[in-house]
Amino acid sequence: VKTMGGRRWSVFDAELRAENERRQTLEAELRRAIPAGEIEPWFQPVVDAGEGRIVGVEVLARWRHPEQGLLGPACFVPMAEELGLIRRIDEAVFEAACARAAPWVAEGLIELVSCNVSPRDLLDPAFSRKLIQRLAGTDLPATALTVEITETFLLQDLALSRRHIERLAAKGVHIALDDFGTGYSNLRALMNLPIQTVKLDRSLISDVGRDARVSKLVGSMMHAARAMGVSIVAEGVEDEAQALFLRAAGCDRMQGYLFAKPMPADEMEARLREDLAA
Ligand code: C2E
Ligand code: CA
Ligand code: CA
Ligand code: CA
Repeated sequence: VKTMGGRRWSVFDAELRAENERRQTLEAELRRAIPAGEIEPWFQPVVDAGEGRIVGVEVLARWRHPEQGLLGPACFVPMAEELGLIRRIDEAVFEAACARAAPWVAEGLIELVSCNVSPRDLLDPAFSRKLIQRLAGTDLPATALTVEITETFLLQDLALSRRHIERLAAKGVHIALDDFGTGYSNLRALMNLPIQTVKLDRSLISDVGRDARVSKLVGSMMHAARAMGVSIVAEGVEDEAQALFLRAAGCDRMQGYLFAKPMPADEMEARLREDLAA
């Protein structure tokens, strides 16, 4: 270590200090941004695989940063999880999203609103009770809400997951298993929990219809899910070849740039009305 010399170490120190400062600034800004309402819900359409009709939306968080512009979740969700701020973000996004999307459901423009929750949120024993309470304060019917959870969470504490999932399911809230096909896929969890939907991960979809082995794998995963009575959403569908394969393999719903990118609420609303008029 000594052989590296003092100069190199001081450069390293300076870099480390700069990185630390950057993080601290971002942390302070994030703490300010939440109550300031800078974290907003964007919406990506979920379409019916058969007709391509928009049947729902997934809510995706964006940070409208005053200087840096629009930031995606990759820039702030991991840090918010580390700092214990993710719950407040998810609550804020959920409330704002419900306020915008409840009228779309009431008017029959869409049927489903899908929200992401962090595995962190779900470790709170009061999570499902609080969510049900918050939901009751909105105009969104419980049966129109889907909560997207990941396997990471199921593996962390199965007893607690079960309690939350069953409590939500009893109210009519749908549960979707997100990022399905990454990690160690939990067919067991699907059998034992009231999960209605799996979302096939984008990493699998990208090679579907092109790579025969991936297509086979995805096909058999879909087969297994269907055998358990679970509906299948493919995410990250970017081209016709993928959509063609997925449709033929019996996918129920699709989501991806082929149909639409995530967009702000006003744009989403305009698009839904346009589609209705068409
Ligand atoms: P996710 O739940 O798997 O969301 C799908 C991601 O794929 C979104 O990225 C979406 O914009 C992107 N995507 C959709 N279609 C396509 C496509 O055709 N091609 C490509 N290349 N990408 C596509 P986004 O919005 O950056 O979100 C990233 C992740 O951040 C989400 O992954 C989710 O895990 C997390 N996230 C987003 N919003 C929230 C939130 O409000 N709370 C929590 N806890 N996590 C969130
Ligand atoms: Ca998701
Ligand atoms: Ca996903
Ligand atoms: Ca994800």
